[in-house]
Amino acid sequence: MAAFGSSVMPAGISSPGGGGRTNGSLLCTPVTGGSVELMLAQMKTAKEIGADVVEIRLDCLRQLTPSLHLPVLVRQSPLPTVVTCRPIWEGGQYEGDEKSRQDALRLAMELGADYIDVELKVAHEFNRSIMGKKPDKFKVIVSSHNFDDTPPTEAIGDLVARIQSTGADVVKIATTALDITDVARIFQITVHSQVPVIGIAMGERGLISRLLAPKFNGYLTYGALEPGTITAPGQPTAKDLLDLYNFRLIRPDTKVYGIIGKPVGHSKSPLLFNESFKKVGLDSVYVHLLVDDVKKFFSTYTSIDFAGFSCTIPHKEVAMGCMDEIDPTAKKIGAVNNIVRRPDGTLKAYNTDYIGAISAIEDVLRESNGSSSAGSPLAGRLFVVLGAGGAGKSLAYGAQQKGARVVVANRTFERAKDLAAKVGGKALHLHEVNHFHPEERMILANATSVGMKPNIDATPISKEALKHYELVFDAIYTPKDTRLLREARECGIQKIVYGTEMLIRQGFEQFKNFTGFPEAPEELFRQLMSKHA
Ligand code: NAP
Repeated sequence: MAAFGSSVMPAGISSPGGGGRTNGSLLCTPVTGGSVELMLAQMKTAKEIGADVVEIRLDCLRQLTPSLHLPVLVRQSPLPTVVTCRPIWEGGQYEGDEKSRQDALRLAMELGADYIDVELKVAHEFNRSIMGKKPDKFKVIVSSHNFDDTPPTEAIGDLVARIQSTGADVVKIATTALDITDVARIFQITVHSQVPVIGIAMGERGLISRLLAPKFNGYLTYGALEPGTITAPGQPTAKDLLDLYNFRLIRPDTKVYGIIGKPVGHSKSPLLFNESFKKVGLDSVYVHLLVDDVKKFFSTYTSIDFAGFSCTIPHKEVAMGCMDEIDPTAKKIGAVNNIVRRPDGTLKAYNTDYIGAISAIEDVLRESNGSSSAGSPLAGRLFVVLGAGGAGKSLAYGAQQKGARVVVANRTFERAKDLAAKVGGKALHLHEVNHFHPEERMILANATSVGMKPNIDATPISKEALKHYELVFDAIYTPKDTRLLREARECGIQKIVYGTEMLIRQGFEQFKNFTGFPEAPEELFRQLMSKHA
């Protein structure tokens, strides 16, 4: 946008009320449409989604004549308004002259905007110009954006003091998170602040600064209208804040759980756990945690409020080095996927992957054999594991624990040999399973990634070889119905176990470890998985 037209101020404008704020933090949705009409439509949608405030980003308008457009935008907003016209030099799109920009912001104030967001660089000048003219309840947000990094805590503290000294009603600091531990410094500032502070660490690694604003005394957080309309890196949608992360339920005492991984954004765990926590009335939230350095993460987030974690690729092994105690089976497997902080602050880790997979296989064998005996139906069976990675280890150890005779087949034979030696089993090259049938009615568990999206036409074993098996399990859950499982059915095998079942069941175990509850809300987990898988 180049510059503004002339400004004429209409009188008698009052600020709109409303909003669904229930905890200490406001949810603000930026409207960034290129025209006034589009912005009005976006404001309506923001209200429908459940935002408390809209931020009118004047710099996103293709053309703006303040005297004509501001009365419409400010008066017709169905929600309270923050008016911002971010200049290019602070990361926005406005490239016109400074006087016109500040004139437009003053006009928005006079028209009844609830907040004006003005940059630190010009805040003294702007605040002087409105001294004695500020309407009741009107607030000036003075903001500072750092697109490079998140400075040390003292430097951020100094910045907050400088912003306050301009006469800001609300302080806004937006830094860039290069690591998730940078966010801890933002929380340190907001949680101790006596003045209202909006503290944001931008970028994917800073996501929790936005999600956990209500826990750490943040004045406001931004939620985009939809994924394509974000106004800063790492901004979640308002809908995700409200529906996925239960933003309205987060309080200072809320316990934080999350999934540690890299990448992690695809994980459905926040959906499963947040819905479950809500259902059983726990004051807890579960978030995505994009972690690069596990050790640094655990040495930074030491509070007992960071109460538990799921752990996924590539951290399942490294995380073991950060634990105070590891469940003996997880130790043998050499990988953990579930971490609980105990009341004394120490960390205990488990492997629930093996329980999820093995219990699913056992149940199918029991059901079909009509047996309800306490012993495992795997005892004495020949159990062939394809793969020797994380899932392969979990399956091999789990089967061994249940008394099965284990065979490990892997593409890299050395890894098959290592794992087979550890579980007292036999090792094969992966291709050898096509001719391996020392007996009938064997159990097959695929724990390779062969057949996983996008290579869905691949399969780790020939269809011909499947006829020697009684049950076939595939750890892969994308897609749910792999070529291996389809071919097993075509061979007449009736005992089929899906990777989704392993996924759901390992989640039950995590829920129980997190909460201490004897049972997980299994039906809800299943419903959510089938709806969102
Ligand atoms: P991983 O540690 O990376 O191990 C991958 C395994 O697949 C290794 O044994 C590897 O053999 C083998 N492999 C990969 N590409 C291959 C190819 N082109 N041909 C033959 N073998 C190949 O991964 P992971 O964590 O064990 O995961 C394995 C699969 O299980 C993935 O599909 C994952 O999504 C799934 N999984 C599911 C769940 C669940 O809850 N359902 C949980 C965990 C994992 P090499 O040793 O020769 O490389």
